[in-house]
Amino acid sequence: MAETIRTRFAPSPTGALHLGNARTAALNWLFARHHGGAFVLRLEDTDTERNVAGGEASIRDGLDWLGLDRDEGPDRGGDYGPYRQSERGERYAARAEALLEAGEAFRCFCTPEELETHRARAVERGDPPGRDPRCAERSPGETDALLAEGRRFAVRLRVPSGAIAFEDRLKGRLSIDGDDLGDMVLVRADGRPTYNFAVAVDDLEMRISHVIRGVGHLSNTPKQVLLYRAFEAEPPTFVHIPTVLAPGGGKLSKRAGATGLLEYRDRGFHPDAVLNYLSLLSWSSPDGEEFLGRSALVRGIDIDRIGATDGEIDEEKLTWLSGQHIRALPPQALAAEWARRPDVASLGLDVSDLERAAEVFAERTQLYTDAATELGGVFAPPELSGERAAAVLAADASMAALEAARRVWDETEWTPARLKPALRDVAKATGLAGREFFAPVRVALTGRAHGPDIADVAYALGRERTLSRLATAIDFVQRFREGAG
Ligand code: GLU
Repeated sequence: MAETIRTRFAPSPTGALHLGNARTAALNWLFARHHGGAFVLRLEDTDTERNVAGGEASIRDGLDWLGLDRDEGPDRGGDYGPYRQSERGERYAARAEALLEAGEAFRCFCTPEELETHRARAVERGDPPGRDPRCAERSPGETDALLAEGRRFAVRLRVPSGAIAFEDRLKGRLSIDGDDLGDMVLVRADGRPTYNFAVAVDDLEMRISHVIRGVGHLSNTPKQVLLYRAFEAEPPTFVHIPTVLAPGGGKLSKRAGATGLLEYRDRGFHPDAVLNYLSLLSWSSPDGEEFLGRSALVRGIDIDRIGATDGEIDEEKLTWLSGQHIRALPPQALAAEWARRPDVASLGLDVSDLERAAEVFAERTQLYTDAATELGGVFAPPELSGERAAAVLAADASMAALEAARRVWDETEWTPARLKPALRDVAKATGLAGREFFAPVRVALTGRAHGPDIADVAYALGRERTLSRLATAIDFVQRFREGAG
């Protein structure tokens, strides 16, 4: 039977997601979806001092924005919960107890001071520092006596000397000497599980098949592999992925500032572009195609193609991709996105206005936030009496141009494909040179000398607004001439 693919994203709620941990989440999600498997969210929240208020909610918001839906998690439930480590204390205790019973682990009654003295002596003698034979070899009678005294103890794993080998899917076979690890602590004297113990217990109990995570966790892996062995279980496939660096090459931080995931949302990036970009940072599609939608990403992900080099965030490319994804949206969807933004809503435009604008201006849009300026520039009533606008309208040819434009567009079907050639043809018929004809029309519609293609502007404005703006400009020129004459 084929293996069930189960991946997990296991953030600590110590801050908002940045592009680095979002990338880890994205690869786990894509891989699970590619194989029809399950994507699990697990909160590693045992370090209560580092947890921040709202950390879990902001992680979920980030995942939701990227469209990384979970099959199991703290907000979804599932067969292998609970999905917050802070709620799994009993499981860690039971697992520790089982290891003690099996003789794989032992109780260590040393105080921190004793451990320190022992460590210093071992280093002096050239012995492995992380072992303490007194506790490791205590007889059951001795242990019971200490327990009866109420002595506190840590639970430590018996780590064998010699090579502990493990496989990483990208890095191949790696190994570390057990003496360098020492008898690692699984449960501290205060009862809290250590990080590696909790992760291994959870990955095992949640039946995670693939652990895809940052290369920074490579050094934790042999410790986790030892625990799988102690539990007589197969370890998952480990895939340690290179690091994502901030623009300019620095480290990403949880107080991420410019690289916080949700800041990209607020800056107007299309979420699929961010997903697309995070994937490109990791692997490339065999045909070199860079603009990939969600289903293409799910289809195309190949963890064996993940490169070894760290990736630096390239905002220019991310912005370009955002433009590609925005352009691929149906105009209704783009208009709806725009309408949700307060700066666009404050322009007071109808849905139909936004939809026409989306049809012709998507090409000029890279970020959703570009819209307010662009739309404001087009839809705001033109100021004709400004110095530059008035100068254009005062030119001899302006009246002929405005009247010709009004006449021809009045009779033209209102589509960008018809409006453009109609205006071009009538311009030619008037015999006016390009600028002489087009500049007054542009000023009549927008009050400005530059901007998007003027037929596109007319289309976005709609027939009624366009013809009325032309009529106003014709009036304006008339009055100006009468005044001048
Ligand atoms: N909680 C760890 C982190 O936020 C991830 C642990 C793991 O993926 O194994 O870095």
